[in-house]
Amino acid sequence: MTELLYQTDSYLSEFDASVTRVDEERRAVVLDRSAFYPGGGGQPCDFGRLRINGSEYAVEKVKKEGEEVFHFLGGAGSLPSPGQPAYGVLDWSRRYQLMRTHSALHVLCGTVFRDYGAQVTGGDMDPLKGRMDFEFATMRAELVHEIEAAVNREIAQGREIRVNILPREQAFQIPDLIRTKINLLPEGIQFVRTVEIVGLDLQADGGTHVRNTSEIGSVRVADYKSKGAINKRIYLEVL
Ligand SMILES: [Zn+2]
Repeated sequence: MTELLYQTDSYLSEFDASVTRVDEERRAVVLDRSAFYPGGGGQPCDFGRLRINGSEYAVEKVKKEGEEVFHFLGGAGSLPSPGQPAYGVLDWSRRYQLMRTHSALHVLCGTVFRDYGAQVTGGDMDPLKGRMDFEFATMRAELVHEIEAAVNREIAQGREIRVNILPREQAFQIPDLIRTKINLLPEGIQFVRTVEIVGLDLQADGGTHVRNTSEIGSVRVADYKSKGAINKRIYLEVL
């Protein structure tokens, strides 16, 4: 089992751990704890480096399988062994761009729901750009500037972003979470991690976020596509 350090501290960019398992075939190591985000919820995985036993390995992909986080190593050198201490360093520039982008997309969700009552059905992101799909029958190209201005106003408010880990039963009492389809969470999950943009948006979410919307900077609605009468896609760029 890997302790997921990024869940409680998104700003942790370097960490100590130890190797618990080595997958020779896939050139991957499992650590007992990790700050590397393994991807999920539309946010891509982190990259970075691991120092183990005097060798430095590039981390080229990270993936969570069951309770374990696998760090896929580049190069062709010999692999570490279980039990060895490891020091992890994230590619912080990429990760911080993803944090700003992910938080910007939540500001977009919160703003579009508040102003138009439209719900999110999906989303995806890369560093500094993302897209979100909405059930938004009345969306049209003319609204793009209105939405962009409203999102930038919310960002400039300097709203605090809070992460909480709540017992399942408690989370199911929160009306905002029920709206964002919390009931789709698997049965076995006992705790729900929530991300709240204070006064704007509250979602069950596993990703990494900035502490305050002011860190996002500003955004541009780069494009908009109609995917049918109901479903509309909004493309966002973080500047
Ligand atoms: Zn999210």
